[in-house]
Amino acid sequence: LFDPASTIEDVASLMAPRAIEKHVELILDVEDGLPVFVQGDVGKLRQILLNLLGNAVKFTHAGQILLSIRQSPRSMEGEIRLELVVRDTGIGITASKLDSLFQTYHQVHETGGGQNYGGTGLGLAITRNLIELMGGQISVSSEPGLGTEFFVSLPFAPYADFDLGASAPLRLDGLRVLSVDD
Ligand code: ATP
Ligand code: MG
Repeated sequence: LFDPASTIEDVASLMAPRAIEKHVELILDVEDGLPVFVQGDVGKLRQILLNLLGNAVKFTHAGQILLSIRQSPRSMEGEIRLELVVRDTGIGITASKLDSLFQTYHQVHETGGGQNYGGTGLGLAITRNLIELMGGQISVSSEPGLGTEFFVSLPFAPYADFDLGASAPLRLDGLRVLSVDD
């Protein structure tokens, strides 16, 4: 179980020093009322966010980076998704390169422009794999010179959706108490 809002806040504060150093503003937009306990692999989510935010910081030289999280309405199938946006005002990506972005070792800006950004070109390939392992999707849109937006949607089950059986959590003044093996 993990708390999506605090996971995002954690990753954002890890990245904040690098954004500050570049005079880029890092804006966090966390929807009110997100579930506090969702089932899933918090390590994967952290890796996904680190990769996307790391890219945003690396390829942005002025302006802002927005990291937002909200939950989708429940679908007809009863599914709820976490929807993450990482949007930057960075160098952007040419339309013709967008399709190959998620391939391993593919780097759009590695040469030219007089700047060497480093890296291996694996980040987005790994990111997409992790997202697919979690049953989610990633998409990207970009405008060269203006910025880039990655959109990630991940299905999740809030803790309350699970069959708690006899071990329903205690509720004390609105606090939900989990047993040790949760
Ligand atoms: P690594 O992540 O392995 O350190 P990398 O960042 O170059 O290396 P990816 O994260 O896979 O590799 O990204 C692939 C390429 O996509 C980048 O080299 C860059 O050209 C482009 N790219 C990714 N994110 C952005 C972004 N936010 N703005 C502009 N270009 C981007
Ligand atoms: Mg990267």
